[in-house]
Amino acid sequence: MTTPTIELKPSARPLPAAEREAILADPGFGRHFTDHMVTIKWTEGRGWHDGQLVPYAPIPLDPATNVLHYAQEIFEGLKAYRQPDGSVATFRPDQNARRFQRSAKRLAMPELPVETFIEACDALVRQDKDWVPPHGGEQSLYLRPFMIGTEVGLGVKPSNEYLFIVIASPAGAYFPGGVKPVSIWASQDRVRAVPGGMGDAKTGGNYAASLLAQAEAAAHGCDQVCYLDAVEHKWVEELGGMNLYFVYGNKIVTPTLTGSILEGVTRDSLLTVARDLGYEAEEARVSIDQWRADTESGALTEVFACGTAAVITPVGTVKTDGVEWTQGDGTPGEVTVRLREALLGIQRGLTEDKHGWMHKLG
Ligand SMILES: *Cc1c(COP(=O)(O)O)cnc(C)c1O
Repeated sequence: MTTPTIELKPSARPLPAAEREAILADPGFGRHFTDHMVTIKWTEGRGWHDGQLVPYAPIPLDPATNVLHYAQEIFEGLKAYRQPDGSVATFRPDQNARRFQRSAKRLAMPELPVETFIEACDALVRQDKDWVPPHGGEQSLYLRPFMIGTEVGLGVKPSNEYLFIVIASPAGAYFPGGVKPVSIWASQDRVRAVPGGMGDAKTGGNYAASLLAQAEAAAHGCDQVCYLDAVEHKWVEELGGMNLYFVYGNKIVTPTLTGSILEGVTRDSLLTVARDLGYEAEEARVSIDQWRADTESGALTEVFACGTAAVITPVGTVKTDGVEWTQGDGTPGEVTVRLREALLGIQRGLTEDKHGWMHKLG
């Protein structure tokens, strides 16, 4: 397979520095986009070609384009962090690249080579480096690589052409007012993914499937939905866009990957970070009944959710049909806070990067 090099066609009119600075002062999440994007095409018989870095702009699509009807779409999410010396680094982009390949495979889409995925992210971050917020806070530049089927036609089959794009958006601190626990609605009837389905692929369809349950969580006064397994409605899987961890004193436990759980890079990193800090870390099945019983007995001391966007979010109150309980005293637990600091320390270049996770862009 050929690896296209990315042709640089930068904007003649990037946003003036003063306007960019005004956005960076309060970026929020996913509201503002940088000056550029990277696009790479794939065509049957030709493979990957025409890699370009171009000004950020709308993409014209024929109304009969595959993705608009049959949803061949996958995406990724990773962040670039400003380091203490002013340089910029991304966190484990190879992991996102590999997951992007697994998602592509599941949706019958072509697999972008790992090095091309990383090259595309690097090209965009280098070009829009001034959009990476300063070191010192919890801000970062969020990268959103994605791919869509672009064949025109209503026949149901894998598209014979695809468009891969990377865009970037400055992200503010997830918890501007300090880390605050989220409340969780454990849905007994809605499911996110089924065995043999596409729960382990990062695809827009899984998010579309989660929106109604999310609205139901809000109607129950909760911030997030926790999904149980689709067969027994018993085993805890994950939130709509974050994995879960249970803290039993010195041991942290995350649900075993059963095929319907998305394999988070943060989840994986925390298994290692926790062991580095002297905790035990393991994967196991946890039922919703056990969650409640172990909280009530005091054995389960903390619960947190994790993902690239928020890094680590403590779970406070849990509600499910007719019952409700609260982890600890409703404030972030000690282990949760320690793991959060440890991972943020690596990402922000404050702690030694023992595992070679940071991808430095200079
Ligand atoms: C992206 C995602 C996560 C978190 O993965 P990270 O790689 O840690 O950001 C968890 N669950 C779902 C459903 C996701 O889409």
